Amino acid sequence: MQPTALRPDSAAVHAGRGDLRALGVHVPPVDLSTTNPLPDVETGGDSYEALATGGLPIDGGSHVYQRLWNPTTARFEQALAELEGCAEAVAFSSGMAAITACLLAARADGKGHVVAVRPLYGGTDHLLATGLLGTEVTWAEPDRVAEALRPDTGLVVVETPANPTLELVDLAAVAEQCGEVPLLVDNTFATPVLQQPARHGATLVVHSATKYLGGHGDVLAGVVATTSDWAQRLRPVRALTGGILHPLAGYLLHRGLQTLPLRVRHQSASAYKLAARLAEHSAVERVFYPGLAECDPSGLIGRQMSEPGAVISLAVRGGYQAAADTAAACRLITHAVSLGGVDTLIQHPAALTHRPVAADAKPGASILRVSVGLEDVEDVYEDLDRALRQT
Ligand SMILES: *Cc1c(COP(=O)(O)O)cnc(C)c1O
Repeated sequence: MQPTALRPDSAAVHAGRGDLRALGVHVPPVDLSTTNPLPDVETGGDSYEALATGGLPIDGGSHVYQRLWNPTTARFEQALAELEGCAEAVAFSSGMAAITACLLAARADGKGHVVAVRPLYGGTDHLLATGLLGTEVTWAEPDRVAEALRPDTGLVVVETPANPTLELVDLAAVAEQCGEVPLLVDNTFATPVLQQPARHGATLVVHSATKYLGGHGDVLAGVVATTSDWAQRLRPVRALTGGILHPLAGYLLHRGLQTLPLRVRHQSASAYKLAARLAEHSAVERVFYPGLAECDPSGLIGRQMSEPGAVISLAVRGGYQAAADTAAACRLITHAVSLGGVDTLIQHPAALTHRPVAADAKPGASILRVSVGLEDVEDVYEDLDRALRQT
């Protein structure tokens, strides 16, 4: 087991690696077995029973089948749980699979009503709005959550910073209104380096691990950090719906966590500089970034989130066409959806990530979202400046 109370940067490097020395290896082994030998029928059956009902592997038992348990993925889960200050974590094949499992687990309890605060990631908004999973949604402002609750409310869903307007939600204030209803916080944009929602009352902390946790644009994954009770409820949903993570992806995510604090802090510092310069740019109407005082009216930076993060949105002058032309004119910056990687990306949320969102909740047509990478911020600024001037 891990020595407890490592500082966060040390935990990022060492968490989930407590058994390596005894194994005689320096990096985690990748266990690709889809099936595992059973000691005998009885122990095999007991192992299956434990895992299929959401429990942990039994001593002297077998992992049975990869859809139930994988040691490589379990190491990543343990590490992420530690970084989020949660008891356990459950990894999934994508962020959407992770959110789906939370909704299904709540619904399986007879609680199919969800209270959600917009804006949310376009996919999450779409999933809730369509009721695809048999859930029903009530959209609420962050200060009106309490009155939207019903006896069958199974989850309250919020995202902060929100996608793509980077609005911040006061988690403690929402958690207080939730009472017994679990609060799900999508922490993709902040990462545990900048914000640990469980410390502010969240029960379920969800990530699209595709973004900062993986950090290099080569892993599609999701993860939920939560209590042991909820982890036990999520694992059977994962086993039954099959949204399992491939162990190679689990390995890459675990490796990604080691540089997460360095990447996120550096990218956040670059984004801060970029946001300040873009706010002065003649082609830019408005910059949305929690590091700008007007975007953080209740002072959550420093209180809830240690730094403003590395995603910026900007409204360009000249409406949709100017925004579209700017995105297309970038050269160093890649015109692509997604975020959180080592390279800078730009995209048009209304046309792409938030395309399915209802018209009255859709981001403005002149808005572009930039995920700031690890390049020299001067090069990123020069590319954006040139693209903005060209249009
Ligand atoms: C990308 C994203 C998701 C969805 O995650 P996938 O890994 O693409 O399934 C959910 N929430 C946020 C905030 C995201 O950025």
